[in-house]
Amino acid sequence: MRYTRLAAVTSAVVLTAALAACGSSEKTADKEASGGTDNAGALIGVTMPTRSSERWIGDGDNLKKQLEALGYKVDLQYAEDKIPTQVNQLDNQITKGAKLLIVASIDGTALTTQLQSAKDNKIPVIAYDRLIRNSPNVDYYATFDNFKVGVQQATSLLTGLKLVNADGSPGSAKGPFNIELFAGSPDDNNATFFYNGAMSVLKPYIDKGTLKVPSKQQDFKTIAILRWQPKVAQDRMENLLTSTYRSGLKVDGVLSPYDGLSIGILSALKSNGYGTAGQPYPIVTGQDAEVASVKSIIKGEQYSTIYKDTRELAKTTVQMADAVLKGQKPTTNNDKDYDNGVKIVPSMLLESVVVDKTNYEKELVQTGYYKDSDLK
Ligand code: BGC
Repeated sequence: MRYTRLAAVTSAVVLTAALAACGSSEKTADKEASGGTDNAGALIGVTMPTRSSERWIGDGDNLKKQLEALGYKVDLQYAEDKIPTQVNQLDNQITKGAKLLIVASIDGTALTTQLQSAKDNKIPVIAYDRLIRNSPNVDYYATFDNFKVGVQQATSLLTGLKLVNADGSPGSAKGPFNIELFAGSPDDNNATFFYNGAMSVLKPYIDKGTLKVPSKQQDFKTIAILRWQPKVAQDRMENLLTSTYRSGLKVDGVLSPYDGLSIGILSALKSNGYGTAGQPYPIVTGQDAEVASVKSIIKGEQYSTIYKDTRELAKTTVQMADAVLKGQKPTTNNDKDYDNGVKIVPSMLLESVVVDKTNYEKELVQTGYYKDSDLK
């Protein structure tokens, strides 16, 4: 009797699950088929955060070129880091009849209304590089392995300080070294990933006393730089130098999560006497392999950057977009780490590379990312 009841309950559960699964796959098919093959030549809306950083110009150009090569029309917009501008751009793209949106957000939490309207109009959304948060209406995410970017930044700080060798073995230096920490914009989901990745490497050294943070400013909120503004990072570095380092203490390393911030940090250091034979620059990290920073690396000022090939990110995103518009399921390789607060967004993560003076030629010039003349 008990057995029969259990069996009945089990089959009811199985049946319900099967029906639910059936319903959801129908829904997906329904949505992804929005137009099916008649999406050939469709308009795709691409929104990028700002032109003030080179990388986003490369991202936008690469996306546009590659989408157009597949016959799509592209509306490419930049919002100069202004949230209301980005909101208007998305509204316009929806009104103009875009069949898919690719969004690199400024504030990952500020687009909920536009995404709802995209959903109501059956327009799929791909989050580009930065995760869009607090909305169920994000279909896919294409990015780099952001935690790993942070790990790479911190590891390169350690190799620059010679605490660790390139192969990961203990280096010739023993420390202790004075470092200061910077993080990215708190409204950009990536910034927390970079910070967590970096701290996973640095914390054991800080705990042991091999690395000291004389300002004691270590938590994300305190060290975050809103909108990744170089000038704000420069000012913070100035303040640290004139307060904590006034008594002649020296900075040996700076964790900087983005090249624009690194350039600001280096100018603050320069105006406080660093960058001379007697007082060399500290080890300063970065991200994006922007031209100004690569030049600075070649001159021996900035120590390293993280190269993220925006051509590859565009390629992955274009493949995703094309698959979705043809009613197919795009390839993803991470369906667990990118929880946007409402759902886990199926993601495709690409690999990044640490670039310093020893390998910029191989990684950036030989790969055709830059011409040698761009860097001279
Ligand atoms: C990107 C980084 C970039 C930063 C500032 C982040 O979301 O992932 O590549 O350095 O924004 O633009």
